[in-house]
Amino acid sequence: MERPKISVVIPVFNEEGNVKELHRRVTEELGTLADEHEIIFVDDGSKDATLSRLRTIMKRDPHTKVITFYRNFGKANALSVGFEHATGDIIFTMDGDLQDDPVELKNFLRKLDEGYDIVSGWKLNRQDPIGKRLPSLLFNFLVRKMSGVNVHDSNCGFKAYRREVVRMVDVYGEFHRYLPLIAHWRGFRVAEIRVRHHRRKSGRSKYGIERLFKGLMDLFTVTFLTKRGRSPFYLFAGCSALLMSFVPLGAAFTVADGLLGLTGFYWAFGLATYLTFLSSLVIFMMGFGSELMLASAGHRNITKNHYRVLSGKK
Ligand code: UDP
Ligand code: MG
Repeated sequence: MERPKISVVIPVFNEEGNVKELHRRVTEELGTLADEHEIIFVDDGSKDATLSRLRTIMKRDPHTKVITFYRNFGKANALSVGFEHATGDIIFTMDGDLQDDPVELKNFLRKLDEGYDIVSGWKLNRQDPIGKRLPSLLFNFLVRKMSGVNVHDSNCGFKAYRREVVRMVDVYGEFHRYLPLIAHWRGFRVAEIRVRHHRRKSGRSKYGIERLFKGLMDLFTVTFLTKRGRSPFYLFAGCSALLMSFVPLGAAFTVADGLLGLTGFYWAFGLATYLTFLSSLVIFMMGFGSELMLASAGHRNITKNHYRVLSGKK
């Protein structure tokens, strides 16, 4: 059986105490799993000795590539650049803090072998403070409800992708955690496996509660783009029409109120009707504007690589 080439992409920001050990353990695992592999560390502008440790590793190990940012750009950017440089048939992402256990690599591969295109980790026994776990539970509940995709731990940094999935989408903002959702909507097969998770031994977590807020905004955008992204005009025009349908009613009531003195507040009803009318127009124009924007650029992005062209030639 032909064994796929494996790339492991690891974003690291101030992980000086972890990179050496992680590299050793990942290499050990990959040795038994793949004939060919690469480990891509993306140093996200670390201020500690991470980069110099990575240089040492790279000198000794020709399978290791290091990409380094001049300053901290965030995990999503690090992953995105890592993906660009990954040449494997299977591409893993994992955190660089030793919380994800390289022993799981083979379990991801086994799941992919069952015919899935993307396998997402689920930290069942999560070793993080409760202040982090609770918001995460709520967040994942929302993700499942809004997307209809049964993923329990979209924040999990430990995932495996077939190359096609990674090529499909631009990762920006906090979008990396939605790749399973986007992939699902594109028709790829998504699976989940339970993974063990360790307490962070060295270094500090880089994230606080603000991640939840950004995550929610991105969830909204992703849901919109995948469900409505090709025709936002329909949604806007629908809202506009709904508002507009109140206008004749409001106008009739205002006139009746003015003539018959029903409430004495006919001017307030008149103003509300007028504002509803204006809002309806504005929403309509916004929808039209976004449709024009899509026409000039967006369609290309949204439909990027969502199909394959098959031919008889190998
Ligand atoms: N990370 C990164 N850039 C950042 C923040 C984090 O590359 O701006 C890396 C970090 O070094 C680690 C992974 O992303 O390898 C997960 O970060 P962290 O452990 O801080 O998140 P947590 O596990 O607390 O959710
Ligand atoms: Mg961590």
